[in-house]
Amino acid sequence: MENDNRVIIAGAGPVGYTAALNLAHYGIPFTLLEAEAMIKDDPRAGTIHPPSLEMFETLGVAETMIERGYIVRNYHYRDRKTGLVANFDLGVLAEDTPFPYRLMLEQHKVSGIVHDALQKHNDFSILRQHTVKNVTQSRDTVTVEVSTPDGPKSIRGRYLIGCDGGRSQVRKCMDVDFAGFTHPERFLVVSTTYNFADVGYAFTNYIADPKEWCALFKVPGWNDEGIWRVVFPTDPNLSQEELFDDDAIEARLQSFQAKKQPFEIVHRNLYQVHQRVASSYRDGRILVAGDAAHINNPLGGMGMNFGFHDVFSLTEKLAKIWTNEAEEDLLNLYDRQRRTVAEEYLQRQTIENKKNLENTDPAEREAFHDSLREIISDPAKARPYLRRASMIEGIERAASIN
Ligand SMILES: Cc1cc2nc3c(=O)[nH]c(=O)nc-3n(C[C@H](O)[C@H](O)[C@H](O)COP(=O)(O)OP(=O)(O)OC[C@H]3O[C@@H](n4cnc5c(N)ncnc54)[C@H](O)[C@@H]3O)c2cc1C
Repeated sequence: MENDNRVIIAGAGPVGYTAALNLAHYGIPFTLLEAEAMIKDDPRAGTIHPPSLEMFETLGVAETMIERGYIVRNYHYRDRKTGLVANFDLGVLAEDTPFPYRLMLEQHKVSGIVHDALQKHNDFSILRQHTVKNVTQSRDTVTVEVSTPDGPKSIRGRYLIGCDGGRSQVRKCMDVDFAGFTHPERFLVVSTTYNFADVGYAFTNYIADPKEWCALFKVPGWNDEGIWRVVFPTDPNLSQEELFDDDAIEARLQSFQAKKQPFEIVHRNLYQVHQRVASSYRDGRILVAGDAAHINNPLGGMGMNFGFHDVFSLTEKLAKIWTNEAEEDLLNLYDRQRRTVAEEYLQRQTIENKKNLENTDPAEREAFHDSLREIISDPAKARPYLRRASMIEGIERAASIN
């Protein structure tokens, strides 16, 4: 068995990788366990908010992310029938952050950038095709049972951070619930090369409609020339085969944005969407972060960012414990701070975002759209609104909890 005075991280997704780079930054040895052989590039998160960029700057990787991504200084809230409702200018956050914009960069590229940055550090190992099966702990150690292509193994460390996603095996080995609900409709994500900017869309758009809302984003894509992702809700009675049918996708896109030529489709993906938060982020020496701790709908682009904020908070506390500057119960503060804001901000905001987009009551819809018009016409109102939407307020709220 290798030296066990180390932190074990389960899951090398964007959050696990970010936990790893933080530990390396603090000089804490770690072992990162990942089930897959390679970083997966399925189209999930593409939006990075200002506080995440501020945090990545402390690790020296923000610049590379900004070079590889698209800076988006404004985004649209639209109505599918009537068009533009509000054009939000993130420039009003100039006093709040050195990065008053959203960065569009796919999550697998974030993981890749962090992976490369790790290479200049020592005393860590990344073990791929190592799938966590079970976790046990004693007073001083935590033991992780993994399956590997060479058979089962047992890996021991001082703490374990479960960053192993929504279906987290680590969380299942903890004494915690994962209460909440699952949306009945799945979300269909269609990626196309069609340039929606030609017909007036911003690089980020939320488009309300009582029958079929959608969200539309431009991300750099595989060749950095740009690709557009359109997110639609789907009928729970339709199968994946029916939803992925070429003609059905073409008809859906044509009804959203009619054009003469057919759309060139690059990807189609279907996601089940949940709203859940773990009842505790700590069970002794075992902790959870990212989707293992909270899952939510993607409207607002918050889930992965929230996971980044979790691990910056957690690793800062672990570093103090590692150097005997703090007692182990500092880990309870991690749980209190991050779980509270997951409930107060992440869940509330993403549920509200979806309700606003799909609202079927014409009067309520119009009143909401009027409120957005009023917000953008007054910087004194736009700033607090965008501080919340850009996740700045959530960070400040977490810091206020002790
Ligand atoms: C369509 C869509 C769009 C989204 N857009 C955004 C966005 O713009 N902004 C945003 O902030 N969020 C967004 N999200 C959410 C975002 O994708 C997730 O919050 C993010 O992937 C969470 O990262 P994670 O590292 O916690 O988990 P994951 O990305 O799920 O990574 C978990 C890792 O753990 C590994 N693993 C799992 N089980 C085990 C095991 N037993 N042993 C070892 N390894 C294991 C997995 O292989 C994986 O590599 C979106 C989600 C969807 C579906």
